[in-house]
Amino acid sequence: MNPLIDLRSDTVTKPSPAMLEAMFQTQVGDDVYSEDPTVNELQAYGASLFGMEAGLFCPSGTMTNQIAIKLHTQPLSEVICERTSHIYLYEVGGIAFNSAASVHLIQGTRGKITPQQVADGINPDNIHHPVTSLVSLENTSNKGGGSYYTLPEIAAISEVCRQNNIPLHLDGARVFNALVATGENPQEYSRYFNTISVCLSKGLGAPVGSLLLGPKPLIEIAKRVRKALGGGWRQAGFLAAAGLYALKNNIQRLQIDHDRAALLGKVLQETSYVVEVLPVDTNIVIFTLAPEVNPNVFISYLEGKGILASTFGPQQIRMVTHLDLTDAMILEIITAIQSFKD
Ligand SMILES: *Cc1c(COP(=O)(O)O)cnc(C)c1O
Repeated sequence: MNPLIDLRSDTVTKPSPAMLEAMFQTQVGDDVYSEDPTVNELQAYGASLFGMEAGLFCPSGTMTNQIAIKLHTQPLSEVICERTSHIYLYEVGGIAFNSAASVHLIQGTRGKITPQQVADGINPDNIHHPVTSLVSLENTSNKGGGSYYTLPEIAAISEVCRQNNIPLHLDGARVFNALVATGENPQEYSRYFNTISVCLSKGLGAPVGSLLLGPKPLIEIAKRVRKALGGGWRQAGFLAAAGLYALKNNIQRLQIDHDRAALLGKVLQETSYVVEVLPVDTNIVIFTLAPEVNPNVFISYLEGKGILASTFGPQQIRMVTHLDLTDAMILEIITAIQSFKD
């Protein structure tokens, strides 16, 4: 039996032998005392990549987002984000649970919102309304099928935030996919965002972890919030070593994932049983099956060929490319897609 070809997410990757070697070789210490040299190095390196002052290594992107929201909001205030944002849809209502804040949802286009929509979403100073205290963008957008913002788009939204004195957070779970697609410099991001969350365990291939980046005083408070959430970890340097390895070796190769995703999108487009493929901008392929095709039948068919994909909405399927795929696997996927009979 061949190994499974897992397209459910880019979170499914396992550490490569070279990454494992880096993990075994590293130095560790107690991070609650800030004495883990590898965690410290990862935090400083991640921050420097984005031109930020400081970083905080956390177990998940959900935690880095939730800590950031906690830092920027107060109870009775509000976060502006797109309707399909991860922070709203996939973080278990954590904004209410952790921050007692409200959410102002904007209907965007493929997960992206405009400066005008942000401006219109800011509440007037009126006792009836929650105080608008944060705007959060997602780049790339998961639900948008890996769509991304360009720097000029980000700059325009940031300008609206600046004029209204509202901080701007980035859920950059897949920000490197956006940066590889645009060729933009991550250093520029620090001009526009107050805080940035970056996942190491998505396309970059680390087993665990995300970074929260921002100004030093804010990251010091973030470390206390992380501790209160039970996230004060000890010899986490073994995991941080994987993150460092990922940042130093696995960014540029994301282009391979994008090319493979584009190829799968093209093959799907050419079948009779797929009615729509969202534009494939990065490593996520979202497509809609014809009404007569039962998505569970399609998923089971793929499973029979050793291929895993996920349902992603009514009639929608998601496939995500990542660094544990090979050219041979891509060929197997293409053959399976082309052989499906509805
Ligand atoms: C995966 C993801 C996160 C964080 O997820 P964790 O599983 O908690 O690490 C945040 N935002 C987006 C857009 C994501 O895709």
